[in-house]
Amino acid sequence: GMINLKNKINVLDDFTINKIAAGEVVERPVSVIKELIENSIDAGATRIIVEIQEGGKKLIRITDNGCGIDSSEAEKAFLRHATSKIKSIEDLYKTFSLGFRGEALSSILSVSKVQIVTKTACEKAGTKLSYEAGKLISREAVGTVNGTTIIVSDLFFNVPARKKFLKSDRSETIQISDIINKFSVGYPDIKFEYINNKKEMFSSIGDGDVTNCIRAVHGKDISQNLIQVDMEIRDMRIWGYISNTSVYRNNKSLQYVYINGRTVRNYALSNSINEAYKSIIPLNKHSICFLNINIDPKDVDVNIHPAKLEVKFKDEHMLYKEFKSALEGILLKSNIIPKYRHYS
Ligand code: ADP
Ligand code: MG
Repeated sequence: GMINLKNKINVLDDFTINKIAAGEVVERPVSVIKELIENSIDAGATRIIVEIQEGGKKLIRITDNGCGIDSSEAEKAFLRHATSKIKSIEDLYKTFSLGFRGEALSSILSVSKVQIVTKTACEKAGTKLSYEAGKLISREAVGTVNGTTIIVSDLFFNVPARKKFLKSDRSETIQISDIINKFSVGYPDIKFEYINNKKEMFSSIGDGDVTNCIRAVHGKDISQNLIQVDMEIRDMRIWGYISNTSVYRNNKSLQYVYINGRTVRNYALSNSINEAYKSIIPLNKHSICFLNINIDPKDVDVNIHPAKLEVKFKDEHMLYKEFKSALEGILLKSNIIPKYRHYS
């Protein structure tokens, strides 16, 4: 209907503010899982168990053996803009942590039912908090191991408009499996376990060996057809694995790029990879890569996307050119020579 500008101006209450903000961070079950795994990694966990039911719509449970949250801080962690990771905007360009906005927990909280059980190594008893739609329902001391378990159930139970946009269990599960695969390969030191509808789907070894991880996640066919890469471009170290010509995909789904441990999309990088392989794999096929980029946090902006899915480099054009020619050099050295000609 018509907007009545004579309406009074309301200052929104915190529940409403959080629910609106949640729309940016929490779009679907996979976004919850991504934020919670990032928190577990930031907490120094070496073991992370992810359990889902019904595509994550009914239940998401993440258990880690990280540092835990002290009972005096537990409620604070759920407040909007509450973070232990930065104190000022300058810190953002120095930090290596995956989180920094202090928005994930408060957002998730406002659109689901959340239970947290957490304990630090210094405490005798842990803390258990239960929330529903952002409101604290109960708080108790409990016996538990060190680390944190967060259970998110009935996602969007109080936001029917959002719930309507969720896809089938199968489709939500595919996205979840994909992000767990990415974290497993990006963090080979961490043992990931993935349980779907009570069935164990996958478990990584966590022995620090990237190729072991790639084999566990994507199979031998891929892990045996990779070329190791370790190079420096300006102040960046780029290392990991790229495919030879025996394996490729119909899409870019197996091009994993991590910047300071963050799995991201970046068009400059993605275009240079495609260009480098253009004449060596068939038209419309895509190469496979698992690449880590270590860069001074001040040279990359991670704060351009609400879910932190995209990053921007200071000099994207330089990166595109230099990375492309470095990849071409590596492929040539591995005796991979252009065999396809594309006329465009
Ligand atoms: P951010 O990650 O941006 O700091 P979050 O809302 O995701 O914001 O988390 C808020 C705070 O809660 C974190 O800064 C951290 O101190 C604490 N926290 C969240 N999850 C965990 C966890 N799994 N283990 C230990 N501390 C956690
Ligand atoms: Mg976080």
